[in-house]
Amino acid sequence: MAHDYDDQNIFAKILRGEIPNDTVLETEHCLAFNDISPQAPVHVLVIPKGAYVSYDHFAAEASDAEIADFTRAIGEVCRIKDLSGADAAGGFRVISNAGPHGSQEVPHLHMHVLGGRPLGRLLDRE
Ligand code: 5GP
Repeated sequence: MAHDYDDQNIFAKILRGEIPNDTVLETEHCLAFNDISPQAPVHVLVIPKGAYVSYDHFAAEASDAEIADFTRAIGEVCRIKDLSGADAAGGFRVISNAGPHGSQEVPHLHMHVLGGRPLGRLLDRE
């Protein structure tokens, strides 16, 4: 799959400070912010600062430091939002959509961190 990155996508503009965001966490290599159209009481997007289109692109080309930072940033968002999967009433879902089959709207890698209510099954059956 080609990974041509469009630097005019909305998250690239957020990273450049051209569009505001409601920041939850910033790390050396990542930014986490609240989704503008939340699908659950907690809906945070975690993005790498690097120009990666999708998870497979990131996994293939990001440095070990970027990958470690991204993974830990997602965990830190869970901690900040009190979503521990070990709690009887807690838990969360992490989703990354890619390409047309994944219904990806913004072509900059992002992890959706969702929680705060029971989230149902992973996929609707059609
Ligand atoms: P995708 O369908 O690409 O996985 O998800 C894109 C997500 O980005 C959607 O949940 C959408 O609500 C969110 N989004 C789109 N534009 C903006 C924006 O300008 N600011 C924020 N915070 N979220 C956005």
